Amino acid sequence: MKLTDLRSDTVTRPSAGMRAAMVAAEVGDDVFGDDPTVNALQERAADMLGFEAALFFPSGTQSNLAALMTHCQRGDEYLVGQEAHTYRYEAGGGAVLASVQPQPIANRPDGTLDLAEVEAAIKPDDPHFARTRLLALENTIGGKVISRQWIADALALAKRRGLATHLDGARIFNAAVKLGIPVAEACRGFDSVSACLSKGLGAPVGSVLAGKREWVKRAIRARKILGGGMRQAGVLAAAGLYALENNVQRLSEDHANAGRLADGLGSVKVLVVELVQTNMVFVRVASGQCAALEAHLAAHHVKALVKPRTRLCTHLDVDPAGVDHAIATFKSFYR
Ligand SMILES: *Cc1c(COP(=O)(O)O)cnc(C)c1O
Repeated sequence: MKLTDLRSDTVTRPSAGMRAAMVAAEVGDDVFGDDPTVNALQERAADMLGFEAALFFPSGTQSNLAALMTHCQRGDEYLVGQEAHTYRYEAGGGAVLASVQPQPIANRPDGTLDLAEVEAAIKPDDPHFARTRLLALENTIGGKVISRQWIADALALAKRRGLATHLDGARIFNAAVKLGIPVAEACRGFDSVSACLSKGLGAPVGSVLAGKREWVKRAIRARKILGGGMRQAGVLAAAGLYALENNVQRLSEDHANAGRLADGLGSVKVLVVELVQTNMVFVRVASGQCAALEAHLAAHHVKALVKPRTRLCTHLDVDPAGVDHAIATFKSFYR
C-alpha cells in the first residue's frame, strides 16, 4: 500500500523527470562561478521572482541567515513575527551566528503584524539601543496568504522609517498560485526574497535568495562564511530548475487536495478543522489521543505528526486517493 505522508511538504522524492534532469546536468565549480546549471537556475529564479540577481543555497535556513547578515551589521536588530520561521525555527541563527538581535512582534491570527506595534518597536538612534535595520516578513505563514494591502502598508512603513525589507518566501509560490498572480508580483517592493525549492516545488534540496545585483554579490560572502559555497552544485540546481519549470502551477492541486482533506476531516464530529488557504490543514486533536491517533494512522500507512494542533501538508506525492484514504483512516479511529 502506498504511503501517504502528511508530515510536511519537504518529504517529496524527486520525480523521474527531475532525476533525469539531475543526471544530465552540466556542471562546473560554482565557487568559481563556473557551474552553468547553477547559473541558469539563478537567472531563472531572479527572473521569476522579479529581481536583478539570485543565489543558490543548500537550505532556506542558510539563505535567510545570509540575508540577515547582508542587510545587518553586528549589533543591529531586525523586526520579525513571533511565529516567523527566521525567528522561531532556525535555532536563533541570527543571534548565534550573525550577532543580529531579533525584536519579535506578535503575529495576529491572519499572520500579519500590528503595524503600530512594529513602528513602536523601531528604536531611536541612541547608544542604549540596538540599531533597528530590517523588517522581515513571511508569506505564506502557517499556510496563510498574507494580504497584499497589508504588505503594501508594511513596506511603506519600512520605507518611511528607513528599514530594509526581507521576505521569507519559503512558500511564496503557494501564495502567488493561490492569488492567481505572477510570483514577481507577490515579491514586489521587498529588498530581498528567499524562496524554497525543496518544499512544494519538490526539489530534494535548495533555496534561492534574490535581490539587487550588488546586494546579492555581498550575500555570496555571507554564504561562504556559513559554509554554503558548493562546488559541482549543478546536479542539485538542475532539480531546482526542473521544479521552477514544471512544478509551480501544479501547486493548485496541492491546495485542492488540502481543501478535500479539510472537508473530509470536518465531517468527523469531534475534529475542529481550521479554514484552509493553501497546502496546510490544521486540526485540533485532544491531547490525550495524540499518540494513539498517530499510531493508528501509521498502522494504516498514513504518516502525520499528531499534536493538539496537528499540521497536515499536501504536496506532490499526495494524490486525491491518498487524501481519501487518510480521511477514512481518521474516521476509523474515531468510530
Ligand atoms: C522550511 C522553511 C524555511 C527553511 O528552509 P530549510 O531549507 O528547511 O532550511 C524557512 N522559512 C520557512 C517559512 C520554511 O517553511
